[in-house]
Amino acid sequence: MEQLPEDWQRGIVIAAHPDDIEYGAAAAVARWTGQGKDIRYVLVSSGEAGIAGLAPAEAGPLREDEERASAKIVGVGTVDFLGYPDGRIEESLALRRDLAAAIRRHRPEMVVLFNFGDTWARGYVNSADHRAVGRAALDAVSDAGNEWIHPDIAELPAWSARWAAVYGVADGSHGLDVTDTVDAAVESLTAHRRYLEVLSPEPVEAQARAVIEMTTGPKEGFPAARALSFELYHFAG
Ligand SMILES: [Zn+2]
Repeated sequence: MEQLPEDWQRGIVIAAHPDDIEYGAAAAVARWTGQGKDIRYVLVSSGEAGIAGLAPAEAGPLREDEERASAKIVGVGTVDFLGYPDGRIEESLALRRDLAAAIRRHRPEMVVLFNFGDTWARGYVNSADHRAVGRAALDAVSDAGNEWIHPDIAELPAWSARWAAVYGVADGSHGLDVTDTVDAAVESLTAHRRYLEVLSPEPVEAQARAVIEMTTGPKEGFPAARALSFELYHFAG
């Protein structure tokens, strides 16, 4: 397992829902902002269908606030919400266009994506939104560099990112040492307090700690006490 490249300055993380980033990538984000990198988040939905017993009209703004608080804890000040419907996101041309526009606005060298495979672990089906967003986002990285594919975003200059790195994958091609940022990641996930309170009777901090310790376990063949694994894709930047 190779070390994930870090010779870049600006990155964006694209995810379907508030909490997707905190469940896996926040430890990496904290490491990168600690190095002085500029990281921004793009959320395709506001996660408004994610809290049992709380109507979407109330849950959406609450979850946006929790996401902004989570982001701030790991040094991220810009969080875009694209307003797609939680639970009903399709891998559409419109989504590719909107994500390509986001990439052109933010001009990242590194685009970070959540696992978009059919499963998130063997035997556990991944969410339809995660599949749609990740696949559309990977295509959008290419689209953003082409001036002709989406004529309705032609006012934004074309932009080519150098890499996409997918987290939440079991056997990634690349690793990242996050030993020093595990605590920041726990704190960042804990900010999804209302969401986590409904998920389990376990105290929110304990839930967050358990999740982060599971996702940042040592990775075979990678020399770090705590690591995240990524599948890396290269683009002609
Ligand atoms: Zn999700």
